[in-house]
Amino acid sequence: MQKVYKGEMQRKAKGKYFCLHLTMPKKAKKKGQGKQQNVPEVVHTVSGDPGVTIVSFLDGKKNVSEFVISDKLNIDMQTVRNTLYKLHTHHLATYIRKKDRQKGWYISYWTFNKPRVKELVKNMMKQQLDKLKERLDKEEKNKGIFFICSKACAKLDFDQATEFEFKCPECGTLLQQQENARTIEHLRGKIREIESDMQSCAKKASAA
Ligand SMILES: [Zn+2]
Repeated sequence: MQKVYKGEMQRKAKGKYFCLHLTMPKKAKKKGQGKQQNVPEVVHTVSGDPGVTIVSFLDGKKNVSEFVISDKLNIDMQTVRNTLYKLHTHHLATYIRKKDRQKGWYISYWTFNKPRVKELVKNMMKQQLDKLKERLDKEEKNKGIFFICSKACAKLDFDQATEFEFKCPECGTLLQQQENARTIEHLRGKIREIESDMQSCAKKASAA
């Protein structure tokens, strides 16, 4: 019985109410933390810790053999290759292949595509901005009439809450009315922050 119920709820969850963790604001980053860490942050997002290590090693060099990377950084070949291909997928690294005459196999030589970082940062900011705007839009449309489960399972608008008789569709707890003015304020602030970051990035780019 319970399984059927849960599946039903999950189906409903897709289009109707949305999970709380999507609407609760994330902890704000410390001021100034974002900008300087852009390079490792973006690289980390696409390729993890090994990506950051490899990129800082490649920075300022050209056509570095995959074997040299593995050897100097003491990272196993499999991880080096996987990470390099992740970087390559996001155009953060380029390579050429050459046949090793003595060994008879191909070796790839890698270069970090540094200018791509800026572009990627811009794309990610844009994506984040779109998501926030979408969330803000939802919150604004339902201003002041959200119902929330005290166990943080779900957040419903008035119509949805009525449909579930003001009980949480996940756990059955009685829903509580929630003021979303603060969430709206927070989202607006976050959007302003990203927009001004993007503007200063664009200014820097056109000045360079
Ligand atoms: Zn609940």
